[in-house]
Amino acid sequence: MGMETPVRTPGDGGRGPTAPSGTLGGPTVPRLAPAEVFAELDTSPRGLASTDVAGRRDRFGFNELPQARRRGLWRDLAGQFTDLFAVVLLVASAITFLAYGLQQPRDVGTLQLAVAILGVVVLNAAIGFAQEYSAERTAESLQAMVPHTCRVLRDGERQELPARDLVPGDVVVLEAGDAVPADCRLTEAHEVRANNAALTGESDAVGRTAEPVGAGPVLEARNCVFMGTDIAAGSAKAVVFATGAATEFGHIFRLAAAAPRQKTPLQLQVASMARRVAGAALAIGAALFAVRVPTGQPFVETFVFALGVMVALVPEGLPATLSVSLAIGVRRMARRHALVKQLLAVEALGSTTVVCTDKTGTLTQAEMTVVQVWAGGEPHAVSGVGYGPVGEVSDPRPVRALLRAAGLCCNARLVPPSDREGRRILGDTTEGALLVVAAKAGLDLAAEEAAAPRVAEFPFDSTRKLMSTVHADTGGRYHAYVKGAPQELLARCSAIDWSGERRPLTAELRAAVITANDELASQGLRVLAAAWRPLADSRPAQDEVESELTLLGLVGMLDPPRPEVSDAVNACRRAGIRIVMVTGDHPLTAEAVARRVGIVREAAPAIVTGTQLDELGENGLDSLLDESGELLLCRVSPEHKMRVVTALQRRGEVVAVTGDGANDAPALKHADIGVAMGASGTDVAREAAVMVLLDDSFASITTAVRLGRSVYQNIRKFLIYLFSHNIAELVPILAATFAGFPLVPITAVQILAIDLGSDVLPALALGAEPPEPDVMDRPPRARQERLFSTAVMGRVLFLGGIQALGVTAVFFWHIHGSGIPYSDFTKDEPVYREAITMVQAGIVVSQFFNALAVRTDRQSVFRIGLLSNPWLLAGGGFGIALMAAISYLPPLQDVFNTAPLAAADWAVLAGFGALLLAAEETRKWWLRRHRPGNRKEGER
Ligand code: ATP
Repeated sequence: MGMETPVRTPGDGGRGPTAPSGTLGGPTVPRLAPAEVFAELDTSPRGLASTDVAGRRDRFGFNELPQARRRGLWRDLAGQFTDLFAVVLLVASAITFLAYGLQQPRDVGTLQLAVAILGVVVLNAAIGFAQEYSAERTAESLQAMVPHTCRVLRDGERQELPARDLVPGDVVVLEAGDAVPADCRLTEAHEVRANNAALTGESDAVGRTAEPVGAGPVLEARNCVFMGTDIAAGSAKAVVFATGAATEFGHIFRLAAAAPRQKTPLQLQVASMARRVAGAALAIGAALFAVRVPTGQPFVETFVFALGVMVALVPEGLPATLSVSLAIGVRRMARRHALVKQLLAVEALGSTTVVCTDKTGTLTQAEMTVVQVWAGGEPHAVSGVGYGPVGEVSDPRPVRALLRAAGLCCNARLVPPSDREGRRILGDTTEGALLVVAAKAGLDLAAEEAAAPRVAEFPFDSTRKLMSTVHADTGGRYHAYVKGAPQELLARCSAIDWSGERRPLTAELRAAVITANDELASQGLRVLAAAWRPLADSRPAQDEVESELTLLGLVGMLDPPRPEVSDAVNACRRAGIRIVMVTGDHPLTAEAVARRVGIVREAAPAIVTGTQLDELGENGLDSLLDESGELLLCRVSPEHKMRVVTALQRRGEVVAVTGDGANDAPALKHADIGVAMGASGTDVAREAAVMVLLDDSFASITTAVRLGRSVYQNIRKFLIYLFSHNIAELVPILAATFAGFPLVPITAVQILAIDLGSDVLPALALGAEPPEPDVMDRPPRARQERLFSTAVMGRVLFLGGIQALGVTAVFFWHIHGSGIPYSDFTKDEPVYREAITMVQAGIVVSQFFNALAVRTDRQSVFRIGLLSNPWLLAGGGFGIALMAAISYLPPLQDVFNTAPLAAADWAVLAGFGALLLAAEETRKWWLRRHRPGNRKEGER
């Protein structure tokens, strides 16, 4: 390799000694003509020879950026101790230590409490830290599931490779919607516009050329595109000159700090609720203190007691439990092919009311096969399925000109079969089908292309719905081949090829074409037309190329629906989610497909085209969307999609929208849930979306909605579970205070043992409950509905009330049963120790039953199976075992001031727990019987 060129090697230019990447060619690259660029970078228009790659890889490393430096672990850990709860608890602990120091005589219980509060802080910090760390890892591993690939020419062959494998000198093929994989100099550019916002901040896409430019900063060179930016329109070939950390983006990337993690509205809601509860706990603590001091209780003890109650009522673990349950949702979705990039989406998914879906690839398999060709007024059947070469055109001769034109006007490539898989398509599947049918008609497109090489291209875009290429033949003449949506193309044709004869396109012939098109479309086929015209020169304007054309014929391709979609569509119907199909395709094709998958069942659904949408205006669009019937939007462009999303949101809908093209990005960003296609979508769409479907299937959206709903329900479940037992802790204390009993029915250390010992695992297990069977049989949750609704509050009071009643009764029954007067009770009195043990065990046992009770909203828990969440049973079992240890093990008896319980005591408590479950079952039965129609989430 002739390497006289200035070469920046690793460690060069002050870019850090470890930078495993480099740049070739230096700042001169923009000033050279394309042919010189190839020489400068020691490569060729056919790309690198694969034998060259290893050497360059050794020299420049992989095309990847060094891992962004994570915030230091220590700083993360320290951060856990500085949040509001931690500070409050640390202060409380310090005061308790101080109180212990001031006590005369010193009570070891105070010391225990101070240590316990400190323990709470440490434990909480550990959980929070572990959770954040694992969330970060999850995010990283999810990112890795969508590999960034690019198209590269090597040895003259087009290949799809991970972007990481690029080396300087590689020739890449870029199309609209591609993320630019490295810093590249364009050598061929067709109507290219690049979106440099990520690099330069300018929001409008800028035009790019392959022509040399004058001296100036590389970043401003109009013939270069840079890593981190993307191609907004057009198509291009370009040579890589800088990779990895040596790219312009690499420089910025190193300077940028890791972006702060954002909290979702749900997390904010829970945090604010937790703060309010903490405020209430503080008030209750203060009130208890104020009530007990005048009754002659020792000052310091009462203060410590009030502080303990306050600490016990603070829902410390709540935000962490919430994050865990959101993270579980994310992981479950990933397992079902839906990658969620932001926790926000998990939450929004649960309240989705409308899904605007594409057709190709999402509802269908995107495996296009041409089944009919129409030319010269005659249909011709094509046999064979898929991309394999098996099959033939019934009469290939009259359709050759049509298929040659359509085939030459394609950017996709057929990849020969390998050991691992059969023949597949690189690029657009619609074009792939055209290449296959051309082969079936006996055309050798490679030879055709060699005889008439392409000299210009006007790439496909979904607003224009056309694509054109210009070719030079051996006689020095130029020809344009145009393919696209029949309506658009027909409007630009003035003649038609009728069995080899060029005829003017009369109204009659035009009508014949439209009839043929409608016939194909009503079978659910995607129809493309192709046309041709001679040209005077090699650099015509687009308008000239795409006018005065001669229509060659129509091609109808079948794209079978995905088998799983019908069920998913039905599930959406039951779940009250409206599906609006938004497609660039013909109305008849769209309707046929929509009927096949069940989106359309009515005899006359509303079918509105892009042109009609334009005429409607905002008010018209609003009233169109107000009608609740089935709606298909056809022949629309991405701009229409954006308008529809905005209009739906104006009506208060929570909108999920799918998209795959570069122009879909605004709609994806604007929607509540932008859904991009992982398999077929463009990089730009994936970037803009919050959810990426690995399998592109509509069914995965439905699954994600189902999981999203269940996450929200699960959060409610553990909120009810956690808050109801707070009532059971508080009520006996209040009762004792007001009854004039000198001691507390449950101590602060006992409460902490429940909150941080026996309650944590069941709460986490509730956060991981599988979706309830009827989760998709209800309408979506209202967007403005608060997590802590009156209905939820009602359940907290109902369940907590029963628990509170039970444990208060158990306590006073014990105390009164002994016949000892209130004033004679001391802390060491065995009856008192037994009574407080009963209270603690009563809460633990009833919480076990409570956890089972909150698993369903309306259904009987016996229907979903008592054993169907083994983690919950294990967590509950652990809580009871811990309680038994506290009751029976002498060292723990000392700490908690507890006593061993008799078997009969446990039996009483279990009976009381069963009573709670029975009461809950009765309430649910009553609801099912008397309010069967009332299925609104907030009212369950
Ligand atoms: P769908 O909802 O089926 O995914 P879409 O909204 O993605 O459709 P587009 O890809 O924008 O639709 O295509 C719109 C129309 O443009 C198609 O019906 C077809 O007639 C035409 N078309 C699609 N792909 C190409 C292409 N590569 N070249 C020329 N025309 C095309």
